Amino acid sequence: MKFGFDIDDTLINLRGYAFTVYNKKLNKNLAMDIFEALKTVEIHEPFGLTNAEGKEMWNTLREEIYFSDCPPYPDAVETLQELKEQGHEIYYITARPGEHGERTMNWMKKQGFPVDGDKFYCGMKDHEKVKIIEELGLDFYFDDKPGVLDTLSSGSLRVVVRDQSYNRHLQGERLSHWKEMKTFLSSK
Ligand SMILES: [Mg+2]
Repeated sequence: MKFGFDIDDTLINLRGYAFTVYNKKLNKNLAMDIFEALKTVEIHEPFGLTNAEGKEMWNTLREEIYFSDCPPYPDAVETLQELKEQGHEIYYITARPGEHGERTMNWMKKQGFPVDGDKFYCGMKDHEKVKIIEELGLDFYFDDKPGVLDTLSSGSLRVVVRDQSYNRHLQGERLSHWKEMKTFLSSK
């Protein structure tokens, strides 16, 4: 089968990591329960930043957030490796800016994710993901972001919400931890 995955906040804890980077840079010590209660994808609000300031902060720190020590979610690497070993095809579809595509792909390989260069898509807008996903004829697609998930209708594609504090209003199938994948697939 064909499995498609978003990367940020689906396979890796990008926002959580960025939250620790913001704490460091702004000399703050906001607790992770504040992070975990956020109802927005953006993380700047508890730091007292305006939307414009938050955007600038993110852009300034983007390199560090993307390419240093952001951790994959527990069991994400192992789960995808297992799918690959079972003969499934693994696709990555990330809306990270295109100029970060190759480095992101290499960074993902370095974390141990199974990556085929021809199954890695980067640089589209959130609302453009749907086109790629449909063209690929995926069986499953996993993402965290309401702005993306809202564009995907099910049909033969199984859209799965990677559970986050800001997407709990969405209906449909949901995965909270990658170790649930086995049970999830065996129940299909
Ligand atoms: Mg995401």
